[in-house]
Amino acid sequence: MHDISVRFDTTTPVWPGDTPWSCTWAWEMRNGASVNVSRIASSPHVGTHADAPLHVRQDGLAADRLPLVPFLGRAVVIDVSEMTGVISLAALRRAGYTDGTVRLLLRTGQTVASGTFPQSWPSLDPVAVRTLTNEGLKLYAVDCPSVDDRESKSLAVHHAIFDGGAYVLENLDLRGVTPGHFDLLALPMPVGPLDAAPVRALLRPT
Ligand SMILES: [Zn+2]
Repeated sequence: MHDISVRFDTTTPVWPGDTPWSCTWAWEMRNGASVNVSRIASSPHVGTHADAPLHVRQDGLAADRLPLVPFLGRAVVIDVSEMTGVISLAALRRAGYTDGTVRLLLRTGQTVASGTFPQSWPSLDPVAVRTLTNEGLKLYAVDCPSVDDRESKSLAVHHAIFDGGAYVLENLDLRGVTPGHFDLLALPMPVGPLDAAPVRALLRPT
C-alpha cells in the first residue's frame, strides 16, 4: 500500500496568498486541563484534497455533497514529468493513457510534497479533458497544486472536469509510485459547506 497523501501541518507549502495550516490549543493538559484539544485554521486546499464544484462556480456542489464512487476503485498512474506546458490528448496517449480510463492520476513531479511550492507544472488541454470525460473518466487526480496551470484565471480544466460529471484530486505525493494500475482509496471528508475537502489517499497495487 502506498500512502500518497501530503501532510497537513505548519510546514506544508501553500498556494501564495492562501491561508496556511495553523494549530493552537483550546485546552492543554500541561496547563491543568483534563484533556488536550486543538483548534485548527486552514484553507482546505492545503495538503491532499478534493475540489468541489463550488470552488469554481457559485451554484456548485459543496464538498460535503461530493459523491464517493469516483474516489474509490481502479486507477491508472501516468508519468508526465518530462512534459511542460499544455499536454495534448496525443501526448497523454503516448505516455500510456488508454481510452475508457475511469480514474487517472497524473504524476507531473511538481509537488508540494517536495517541501516547496512549484513555480509551474504541466496541465491537460481542456479539450482533451472533455474527450476523456466523454469516454468515461470520473476522476482526474494530480500531484501538483492544481489541475489548471498556475497562472490560469479561467480554470478551464476544472470547468471541463465538472461539466463532464467528473471530480478532482490535487496535491498527491506520487514520488514513490511506479506508474501503472492500482486500486485507489481517496475519500473526501464530509466538510460542509466548503469548496474543498481534505483527503487521505492510498494506492494498492492490483
Ligand atoms: Zn484545490
